[in-house]
Amino acid sequence: MSKDYQHILIAADFSSHSDEICNKAQQLAERYQAKLSICHIVEDFPLTDFAYEPMISVDIDMRDALLNAGKNQLAKLADTLAVPASQQWIECGSPGHDIVRIADDNDVDLIVVGSHGRQGIKLLLGSTANAVLHHAHCDVLAVRLQDS
Ligand code: AMP
Repeated sequence: MSKDYQHILIAADFSSHSDEICNKAQQLAERYQAKLSICHIVEDFPLTDFAYEPMISVDIDMRDALLNAGKNQLAKLADTLAVPASQQWIECGSPGHDIVRIADDNDVDLIVVGSHGRQGIKLLLGSTANAVLHHAHCDVLAVRLQDS
């Protein structure tokens, strides 16, 4: 028996394929009358090194700047999908891990990712898509993307 999804989460990386992924998620949300949410993870690069202590402040400023820029991008994308601010999540961390955690914390029952992201098509599945598929506790749809 097919399952009715109630809460669908889009994992957005703002690549050129975002529209395709969002359209698919929106179609499914309409079909199932499901709540639609969206998240973005700002990758936490280890910029600090004990040998370069002064970089710590650069790291914090940079993280804030990236989070703010990401928040604006996310709000723009969410606007096109009529996703309210309360269902937009942005965090610093590891995309593969944190997308799954956000889904768990918010009773998401379907995560929608692209088969590939900003790194382009090198493997059958990108590393984030692969990590989400391996670790998610709910269904995952990997929208198959062709290289543009
Ligand atoms: P990748 O596996 O990194 O090539 O990306 C595959 C898909 O994972 C993308 O199409 C997005 O749906 C999602 N994704 C990748 N990076 C992020 C990120 N930083 N935040 C949210 N979703 C992401």
